[in-house]
Amino acid sequence: MFSGDRISLTGSKSHLALVRPSGMGAPRLEQVRTPVALPGDFVCRTLIAGVCGTDLQILRGVRDDPARILGHEGVAVVEEVAAKADQRWLGATIAVNPTPDWGTAELGHTLDGMMQQRFLVPARLRSLVVSSPAELAADLAILAEPLASVLTCGGILKRVAEPIRVLVVGRGTIGQLLRIALKTACASVRDVVVIGTKETAGVENGAFDTVILCSSRQDVAAALSIGLDSLCDGGILHLFGGLPSEGRDPRLPGVNLSEIRARNTGGRVGWPLAEQCQTTIGHKRVAITGHRGSSNAMLTRAMLELSARPNTYRPLLTIVTNPEEAIHTLRDAVGYPPVRSWTKLGIDFRRWRT
Ligand SMILES: [Zn+2]
Repeated sequence: MFSGDRISLTGSKSHLALVRPSGMGAPRLEQVRTPVALPGDFVCRTLIAGVCGTDLQILRGVRDDPARILGHEGVAVVEEVAAKADQRWLGATIAVNPTPDWGTAELGHTLDGMMQQRFLVPARLRSLVVSSPAELAADLAILAEPLASVLTCGGILKRVAEPIRVLVVGRGTIGQLLRIALKTACASVRDVVVIGTKETAGVENGAFDTVILCSSRQDVAAALSIGLDSLCDGGILHLFGGLPSEGRDPRLPGVNLSEIRARNTGGRVGWPLAEQCQTTIGHKRVAITGHRGSSNAMLTRAMLELSARPNTYRPLLTIVTNPEEAIHTLRDAVGYPPVRSWTKLGIDFRRWRT
């Protein structure tokens, strides 16, 4: 279908989306208007979108991201462009890096995301579009964004020190990916122990030179206690996720945790890389570092790593299902009491009739 320079492979006017209610709650299936590409924009058809802990926090009302349609992990096919120069993108399989290095996350956070059959990549976010390698299976592609963030974490740790014994606090997808891939990004690492915030048995005091916190936000106080006890004097505390909303903790006086984490955003590395802190736990000193997201190049590297070792990563995909089933699963996960027996949920839009 042609209209000026606009070329669309389908020309559909409306499509189905997982629309969340205002406030909190699970999304519902709704027919929404399909966006039209203006020059520089892409309209993309989602293949699979992933659901992560951040999405669940938004659905539970713990975060106030305004997007009504979530989804910042996944792969899609470019279906409509509006500039001649962009025609080569038509039919390309792509991912969108959700974390620009110039600000906060947009796709699936401030802008409607990938949990719908079609979504818009506006021209101003075009620099975040990354081609997906042909050999990467669509289901594995939903791990690319979290894996890229894990590889970025390894790269930062390597620059701060040479971590050897690493404790990861948080058993979600990030924790599992750190267990598998941290050594790939940081060659000095010998041991990676992953624990949840309720399992302290067997974790020796002061036994780790590095602790990575990646629990959910409501468990951050417990995660930090475990982390500070387990770190040796002068160890590294890396903030991957789940910070207190005020960004501070009395055990780390004078430190703004959110600011340290935001310093390294979207692959951009700020200065200083680590902040020295005298804690209130004994006389322990720690070097605090952290990051959010990754660069496009790291996203590509993660995609190549996933295609090279599919059998290592596929067990992390607990459920990959059609959108109707995914809505039931999300309803259970954000209901009272929450029922969640999965780590990673993939919503396969190819299993949906258009
Ligand atoms: Zn995420």
